[in-house]
Amino acid sequence: MPASRTLRPASWLVSAGRPADAGAPLNPPLVAASNFLAGGARQYARSDATPTWEALEAVVGGLEEAPAVCFSSGMAAVAAVFDQLPPVAHVALPEDCYQGVAKLADAGVARHRWTVERLPSDDVAAWRGAAARADLLWLESPSNPLLTVVDLEAVCAAPRRPGALAVVDNTFATALQQRPLDLGATASLQSATKFIGGHSDLLGGVICTRDEALLAGLRATRALAGATPGALEVFLALRGARTMALRVERAAETALELARRLEAHPAVARVRYPGLPSHPTFETARRVLRGFGSIVSFDTVGDAAFADAVCRRVTLVRHATSLGSVESTMERRAAIDGQRHLPPTLLRLSVGLEDVDDLWVDLCEALEAAHRGA
Ligand SMILES: *Cc1c(COP(=O)(O)O)cnc(C)c1O
Repeated sequence: MPASRTLRPASWLVSAGRPADAGAPLNPPLVAASNFLAGGARQYARSDATPTWEALEAVVGGLEEAPAVCFSSGMAAVAAVFDQLPPVAHVALPEDCYQGVAKLADAGVARHRWTVERLPSDDVAAWRGAAARADLLWLESPSNPLLTVVDLEAVCAAPRRPGALAVVDNTFATALQQRPLDLGATASLQSATKFIGGHSDLLGGVICTRDEALLAGLRATRALAGATPGALEVFLALRGARTMALRVERAAETALELARRLEAHPAVARVRYPGLPSHPTFETARRVLRGFGSIVSFDTVGDAAFADAVCRRVTLVRHATSLGSVESTMERRAAIDGQRHLPPTLLRLSVGLEDVDDLWVDLCEALEAAHRGA
């Protein structure tokens, strides 16, 4: 990882982490190795990495100008952060945080590993207060699926306990649209399953941090827990990263256009997109983000059955969970275990790379078909 990156993000993503020797392949090879011949710097892949992971870490770390540690999934990365906590710690967590993180936090409470308080994402004063007592401030911005944008700079500037961590789940914005470390966070985490991979064909996670002690701790946990990424997965994640800037930019453009159109649709009761002036955290989003992302949540009129019917009727948009891929996906979030507190008709749309007008026709047809009861 270079200490400072002179190239702009799009050029960096395309060019970093490539072999330099004459005759070498242009791409880092997919190194499928568990072990290496004795006498060199590497012996065993779980603890000593492979050249393919190191290329991925160089590329993704360069975006946030920090060393990166890659994991076998986003949740493996999350679990590695929680593993750094002292015995009996206190954690501050958003009320509307990624449900995997909430479940992991609850499991630790049940085992008396830590205590947890849940705070509304947009309540800066509450978060600043929690900074004084928490060993871990877990921030997620924009949040899932209400897309609340947190004033990370204000929260991270609040005095923390010695050794306390402020970690941002940056999966929705990506390192291209939000730079948590520059806003005062200790670490920035991305599920590489989403925008870095970008093709719904791998699981992965990455954490960037400039904190040397945390970096060493995360690497140690990864090696001890065996939370190491597979060879094919890192190869695919690296391939995905090459086109990430283009994908993230185009998907966000399409998302903004669809959000505007949805807001005027008679079968849509409410649109939640941080780039719309109607979003409660629009002003914060304009300050903190460099682009508003490609996730659009909207509440349909009618009831849950109506919203389910819309999901069944879309064809170009795939009715599926997850996000950040080339193909658009949509689901009704309150239908998911642990998400029943959400508005019952809220659909979370992850906008992909299809043509905006084709997506619009698909959404309109599905809304109209559901309306006719078809
Ligand atoms: C998907 C996701 C995760 C977990 O990542 P996995 O790769 O599925 O383990 C964490 N946080 C957010 C915001 C996510 O969307």
